[in-house]
Parts: sequence; structure tokens; C-alpha cells
Amino acid sequence: MKILAIGRNYANHAKELNNPVPAEPVVFSMPDSALLKSNKDFYYPDFSKDIHHEVEIVVKISRVGKNIPIEFAHRYYTEIGLGIDFTARDIQAECKKKGLPWEKAKAFDGAAPISKFITKDQFKDVNQMDFHLDINGKRVQTGNTANMIFSIDYLIAYLSQFFTLKIGDLIYTGTPEGVGPVKIGDHLEGALEGEQLLDFKVK
Ligand code: ZN
Repeated sequence: MKILAIGRNYANHAKELNNPVPAEPVVFSMPDSALLKSNKDFYYPDFSKDIHHEVEIVVKISRVGKNIPIEFAHRYYTEIGLGIDFTARDIQAECKKKGLPWEKAKAFDGAAPISKFITKDQFKDVNQMDFHLDINGKRVQTGNTANMIFSIDYLIAYLSQFFTLKIGDLIYTGTPEGVGPVKIGDHLEGALEGEQLLDFKVK
């Protein structure tokens, strides 16, 4: 399986990092070794001093597809989860300055905590889902999929032009504003439409 991820998919987050609002999706990928499942502890890596949280809606592909028309994109996923795209902001800044790829900053071991998945029929409207992240009981990020620059269906159609989507592939759909550093000892809790799905510690 592969993990595709979208950068700058919420206008207010692009602004907080002084990035332009993109005209087309910013795409990067992560290997499966980046996944951190079952609310296991996240171990702060030695190579960074500035790991940031980015809470994101994650879509699981349920059908093989290539060049998927946007009007059929909804048929290619049945489940949604909540994830975190941990980012070594110090390393990413270096990569950006040098015009290098982001993998070391975004795709390291454990960089992508992932919750259990929920069938999308359980949501009223996938284009209006609330989600949030709390750290040590304090709300740090809130988002709603209505504020995505590129909708879930748009992303599926767009990505499938470049990458054949396969069953089990995951799409991290981008983070809303409010990203910031985590530190050892922090307790992270994330919820999607009121259901708590992420609950783990930084060690
Ligand atoms: Zn992200």
C-alpha cells in the first residue's frame, strides 16, 4: 500500500506558514513504515528539535482506479479515519530552502499516526465533517472538511491521474490552521464528528 498526502489544503493553514494558496494540490508520499497504529506512543525522534502536529482527515481507498472522473470518485472509498501528519519543521525548512524533497521531514518512522476507520455512511455529509485535536486537554486545532481547498472527491480524481489508486491506499487530506510543536509527555486526543479516535502520548 502507499500513503499519499496533501499539503496546504486549507487556506488559513497555508497563510500561517506564509505559503501561497495553491492552484493545484501539493502532493507528497510516505512509506508504510511511517504509519503508527492502535494509538501507540509516538517517540520523539533524535534528528529534530521541532516536531509539529498536523491533524488530518484520512481516506482509505476501497477500489482500484486510474484517471477516475470526479463524479465517480465517491465510489472509490468507503471509510474515513483521523490521522496526524507529524512534521519535523526544522528539517522541512532546510529542505524547502534547498529546494529538496520533504520525505525526511514528513515520512520518517511513526510520522503518520492513524486511527481506526469509520464507514462513511455513518456521516451525514463527508464534505461537512468537524474534527479537532486537543493537547493535554487544550484544543489546538479545529477543522471542517467544508474548508478544504480541494475536496475529497477532487483529490481522488486528481491523484489518480498520476498514481493508480489501490485498495488500502491512504490519502492524508491536509491540515487546518493551528499547527504547532509537540513535546515529550504531551497527550494528544483527536476526534472526528464528536467521536474520539486518536488518544496517545509523545515519549
Ligand atoms: Zn500535512
